[in-house]
Amino acid sequence: MNPKRVTVIGGGPAGMMAAIAAAQAGACVTLCERQAQLGRKLAATGGGRCNLTNTLDVETFMSRFGTEGRFMTGALRRFGRDDLLRQMTEWGVPCAAADGFHYFPVSQRAMDVLQALERQLKKLNVQVRLSTVVSALDLVAGRVCGVVAAGARLPADAVILAAGGAAWPSLGGCGLGYDLAIQAGHEVVEPSPALVGLVTRETWPRLCAGVTLPDVMARIDLPECRKEVWRGVLLFTHAGLSGPLMLDISGPVTRLLRRQEQVPLRLSLFPDLSRETWNTRLAEWRTGRGKKSVRNLLDESLPQSLATAVCEACGIDSAVRASGMTAEARDRLLEWMTALPVTITGSGGMAQAMVTHGGVSLRDIHPATLESRRVSGLYVAGEVMDLDGPCGGYNLQWAFSSGWQAGALAQRGEG
Ligand SMILES: Cc1cc2nc3c(=O)[nH]c(=O)nc-3n(C[C@H](O)[C@H](O)[C@H](O)COP(=O)(O)OP(=O)(O)OC[C@H]3O[C@@H](n4cnc5c(N)ncnc54)[C@H](O)[C@@H]3O)c2cc1C
Repeated sequence: MNPKRVTVIGGGPAGMMAAIAAAQAGACVTLCERQAQLGRKLAATGGGRCNLTNTLDVETFMSRFGTEGRFMTGALRRFGRDDLLRQMTEWGVPCAAADGFHYFPVSQRAMDVLQALERQLKKLNVQVRLSTVVSALDLVAGRVCGVVAAGARLPADAVILAAGGAAWPSLGGCGLGYDLAIQAGHEVVEPSPALVGLVTRETWPRLCAGVTLPDVMARIDLPECRKEVWRGVLLFTHAGLSGPLMLDISGPVTRLLRRQEQVPLRLSLFPDLSRETWNTRLAEWRTGRGKKSVRNLLDESLPQSLATAVCEACGIDSAVRASGMTAEARDRLLEWMTALPVTITGSGGMAQAMVTHGGVSLRDIHPATLESRRVSGLYVAGEVMDLDGPCGGYNLQWAFSSGWQAGALAQRGEG
């Protein structure tokens, strides 16, 4: 029997892994990538170090993707974290979670992950076509028969759509995968930027640009959002706020910004210190340490630029002593220390988003096989789907797991 012909659209982590899995299973594989290189985004992940997965158990891992997380069960069972790590080790890229959570290559080089995938593609005789845009699917009577690339028809028994999302276009993000899914009759949930830095209306965060706080809690200060809280590292930037904490909250915030001009947030800079503790502390400052300036006392708990910004925002002159603080200033300071208000007016947009929220609706994809319910022989993998996780190796693990699942099953399906 002739080997099955599988064409993969997109040479990111999902597409490369899909091509490897299909070729390992015996298929004759062609991989089309519209850019001149494979895996440009992959090479930039984790600040060039590639945080490819994390230590969470499968259930918790899936829960971090929200209500749709269970869709990943089949793919994670077939090719989960341990499979990915074992495979990377076999391919000469051992990985470790030095901090007990984030897995990186021991070499700390994303390029090593990319080159290992490229070596496998070569070894398995995958035909890689670079600078090749797939402009359409070749569909006949509810079945995919190939793709149209560079004006020519490329016949295939199965096609894997792994074209990624629209995020970070300078590294390859584009909406072309959505157009192909729509051509196949799929619904696309409106794409919006996620894992992106936020712009504040207040200018004071900019004065603290570069300052990082390791453990901050944040919530969206709107009645319908009060239940959910986020916790993590906060970074002040020239535009406002970023760091893993803000990247994680950015998805819901940017979606709210589609219907309102600004989104109020509250930040707890000391999540383990209660309002009562701060109340007592401020009272002690006034009585026991009254000769010291409020600014100097704040310096004991906050980086200098942030202490200055807090004083200015609370209307406390830098020379004011703790004993001379007005009741009004004290109340404001108490609020800032326990639930600091900031107003988000924008984000870095798709240009600076690490992932896309939205994409090809999961409703029309079989979770067990990742095959389209609309067109037989068409499989979907990676970020092009309506699934996105927070910072911390979630999105790459999903790209690799779904790629493997789609590749292994595309080779097996009826052709
Ligand atoms: C700066 C940055 C850092 C990140 N760091 C991390 C991290 O450390 N850990 C983590 O888990 N996630 C990280 N991510 C997210 C992660 O990189 C993505 O979720 C992941 O790359 C998605 O893989 P993918 O293969 O689905 O899509 P992509 O990597 O986007 O690959 C899709 C490919 O398809 C090609 N393509 C699109 N349309 C066509 C077409 N019509 N024809 C041919 N080719 C096409 C594109 O050019 C692209 O190369 C980061 C993202 C960015 C931008």
